[in-house]
Amino acid sequence: MPDDSRGVVYLVGAGPGDPGLLTVRARELIRSCDALVHDALVSPELLAIELAAREREPEVHDVGKRGGGRSTPQEEIEALLVRLARDGKRVVRLKGGDPMVFGRGGEEAQRLAREGIPFEIVPGVTAGVAAAAYAGIPVTHRGVATSVTFVTGHEDPARQASGTDWQALARAGGTIVLYMGVGRLAPITEALVAGGLPSDTPAAAIEWGTYPRQRTVVATLDSIYEHARAAEIGAPAITIIGDVVRLRREIAWFDRRPLFGRRIVVTRARAQASGLAERLRALGADVLEAPAIRIERLDDAAARGRLTRPRAFDWLVVTSANAVAILWDAVRGAGLDARALAGVRVAAVGPATGAALESHGIVPDVVPGRFTAEGLIDVLSTRGDVRGARVLYARAEGARDVLPVALRELGADVEEVTLYRSVPDERGAERLCRAVDAREVDLVTFTSASTARHFARAVGADRAATVVGASIGPITSEAARAEGIPVRIEAAVSTIDGLVQAIVAHARAKDGAP
Ligand code: SAH
Repeated sequence: MPDDSRGVVYLVGAGPGDPGLLTVRARELIRSCDALVHDALVSPELLAIELAAREREPEVHDVGKRGGGRSTPQEEIEALLVRLARDGKRVVRLKGGDPMVFGRGGEEAQRLAREGIPFEIVPGVTAGVAAAAYAGIPVTHRGVATSVTFVTGHEDPARQASGTDWQALARAGGTIVLYMGVGRLAPITEALVAGGLPSDTPAAAIEWGTYPRQRTVVATLDSIYEHARAAEIGAPAITIIGDVVRLRREIAWFDRRPLFGRRIVVTRARAQASGLAERLRALGADVLEAPAIRIERLDDAAARGRLTRPRAFDWLVVTSANAVAILWDAVRGAGLDARALAGVRVAAVGPATGAALESHGIVPDVVPGRFTAEGLIDVLSTRGDVRGARVLYARAEGARDVLPVALRELGADVEEVTLYRSVPDERGAERLCRAVDAREVDLVTFTSASTARHFARAVGADRAATVVGASIGPITSEAARAEGIPVRIEAAVSTIDGLVQAIVAHARAKDGAP
């Protein structure tokens, strides 16, 4: 026998779409495999997240099939799996939902078993259960449905004859979950009515279940086809038939979250983007992370020189988490740690900068109540220990001069080190332009004056004038307006929390809710 002992195939379910519904086991395997073979139904966002978390990409084969488009024939997919495993690779065969529910995972396992190739099966969250749950429909419910049937109407006409007994299903009672596009719904609902299922049985069609663009249409058995068609429900869609559909009125949640369906652009620099994006997603928003700027570190020799010379200064003033990260690397790069700042008083412009400091064991002496350079000056001017003090100010290139000027006026001896600059992110810019042109953007968030400037530069003045801006505070708003961006939303408190609250309040007002 050839030595193919390392080769193995994992038949893995990717879940219905929401990246958070991937299993822990699936994630482990995707992050460590040599080859990945996936379908069209696997969420591109999920794939992007998991692949970005790897140091090196595996070899990726997209064997996707979509709406009758070109797809790799099943026989070829199986041959590919066999070949990759024989080459000694650890192969993840990734499928939408659960691999064994209408996913042909059984056939692939049979082939691997015949060829003597080791395999494992990793279940996934199947769309019929997940889309239902996200639509607020329990597939079983005490006193309403004690059984559930997963069934598909063949989308391949050549196989239509093969056997679902719709009339028997109609008599069985319980919930019916149809895995198929709504195109074939008419003959199936007719067959169910003919079989004795009351024509006013509630039915729901759910498109893109668990995705931010999920849509649900509720009607009755005899009208669901018409309603779904009128609403242009497309693939992928699940249809649920049964009295459980009524529970949606009471327990719908996913599409009732305050920002559901809102498409919001997050333009922070990449390293900082995820906090805001996560918060907005949790509230239901469809977030496009388009970093308008990225942070470029400047030579930190100057900073290192200052920080490593004991008692070189009395105060350290920091105005961003980026600056903290760079300073910390400088300290560590010099073989030192937090003790390098022993005896130094530290001022942070706001809570995020303060938290970044604290994560390195440095608790700032001053964090102002108003998170701007002016707010910081106000607090420092009340202290007796600034006059005559040596202040190291860690800054970004192009930042306003408010702080050093005011500190000097307070009698401090200010030394400035420029740690980084913000530069435009070209690829992010292209994605932004496409989204704005396609009118796919409801809101654009700005978390600093530089994100506003870079956004305007990236998309051009004409596009910038068409969006609705949401800004973290007055200085950012002013900078955005100077670029011709209409700012309709401004945080009352200049933090990410404050920005999120302002966006939610705006969405509520638009919906006419209290
Ligand atoms: N193995 C998959 C099903 C594959 S069959 C699973 O367990 O979910 C393909 C059908 O699944 C589609 O035609 C559609 O009916 C359904 N489907 C898959 N993902 C879906 C989603 N996110 N929302 C609604 N239906 C989905």
